[in-house]
Amino acid sequence: MTETLTINIHRSPVSRLGELDPANIEFGKLFSDHMFAVDFVNGEWQEPQIVPYGDMAVSPANSALHYGQAIFEGMKAYRTAQGGVALFRPLDNLLRLNASAERMCMPALPEELFMQGLTQLVRLDAAWVPEAADTALYIRPFMFATDGLLGVRPSDTYRFMIITCPVGAFYNKPLRVRFEEKYVRSAEGGAGYAKNAGNYGAAMYPTKLAQQQGYNQLIWTDASEHRYVEESGTMNAIFVINNRIITPALSSSILDGITRRSVLQLARDWGMPVEERKVSTHEIIEALQTGTLQEAFGVGTAATIAPITAIGYEGHDYELAAVDNSAFSRRAAAALQAIRTGEAEDSHRWMVEV
Ligand SMILES: *Cc1c(COP(=O)(O)O)cnc(C)c1O
Repeated sequence: MTETLTINIHRSPVSRLGELDPANIEFGKLFSDHMFAVDFVNGEWQEPQIVPYGDMAVSPANSALHYGQAIFEGMKAYRTAQGGVALFRPLDNLLRLNASAERMCMPALPEELFMQGLTQLVRLDAAWVPEAADTALYIRPFMFATDGLLGVRPSDTYRFMIITCPVGAFYNKPLRVRFEEKYVRSAEGGAGYAKNAGNYGAAMYPTKLAQQQGYNQLIWTDASEHRYVEESGTMNAIFVINNRIITPALSSSILDGITRRSVLQLARDWGMPVEERKVSTHEIIEALQTGTLQEAFGVGTAATIAPITAIGYEGHDYELAAVDNSAFSRRAAAALQAIRTGEAEDSHRWMVEV
C-alpha cells in the first residue's frame, strides 16, 4: 500500500517490548508502544497522529461516558510464513465500523484514514506481532464522543483511535453454555447488530449469573419469545446437524461477524450445505437427544472457534460428543489459520499485507 496520507508520528523514546513474556501473554493487558488517534471537529477529520501509547485527557461530561456513544472493532494481524505481517479482512471491519457509526449517530471514517492508520501503526509496532504458532497482534479500533456537554444529543466532536496488543496461542477449552430465557442481549430494532459499547455492558450481568451456575457462557435467544438462538456470548453461533452447517440468519439483533462469514464461506467452498435461518432451541435440544447434533461452536475474532461441549436447557445439561480433527470446526479453524499465515492459498483475497 502506498503512503498517500501523511500521519504525524511521535515515536516512543523507549520500547516496553521487554516487558512482554511471549510464553505468558494475558489478553488485553500489555499494549504495543504506539497508538493511532484522529479527532473529528467542525464536521471534518483532523490531522491523524501516531503517538506513544498512554493515558489521555477527556472531558468528564463526554457523552460516551454518560450515554454510551462509543463503538469499537476487533481484528488481528498475523505473522506470515514468509516473515511479513498481514491483516485479515480489514475492509470488512471498516464497513462494519461505519455501519455501527451510522446506528450511533457518529461520523463515518474514510477508508484511507482507516487503512493508513492501521497499516502505519502495525508497521511501526511490527516487533510486537508475536511469532509462535496461533498467536497474533490483536487490534482494537474504536470511536467515542468527545463533546464536554451533558445534553442528550449526538456529540459534535469525536475521536477515533487504534490500540494493539499481542495475544498468545490459547487453548480453546470446550465451553459449557446454557440457553438464556430471561435476559436479552439484543432485540429486533435495537442496536445489537452494531458493535457499540453498551451491548457489552448490559450482557455482563446475565453472563455473571450463568457463570455462578457453573456455565462458561450463555446462548442468547430472541427477545420476544426466547425460542430462537441468537448468539453465543460475544460470538456468533454455528451448529452442525446431519453434516449441514446451520446458523441463525442475520437480523438487526445479530452482529454480522467476519469469522462467521469466513467459516460459512469455507463450508460452501467445501461443498457443504449451509443454512442461514431461524434456529429454535427445540431444534437443537431435539438434535442433541436424537444424536444428530454433531458440533456446536462460537465463532469470533478473539478465539476464532470456541467448541461447545454442553448446553443447558430447563435445568438439564445436554452433553455433546467429543470431536476429533476431522470435525468441521477443527478443519475450518486450521484452514483459516493456514490462510492467515500464508501457508495456504488465499483464494478469496482476505489477507492484506502491511
Ligand atoms: C464482535 C462480535 C462478534 C464476532 O465478530 P467477528 O467479526 O467474527 O470478530 C459476534 N458477536 C458479537 C456480539 C460481537 O460483538
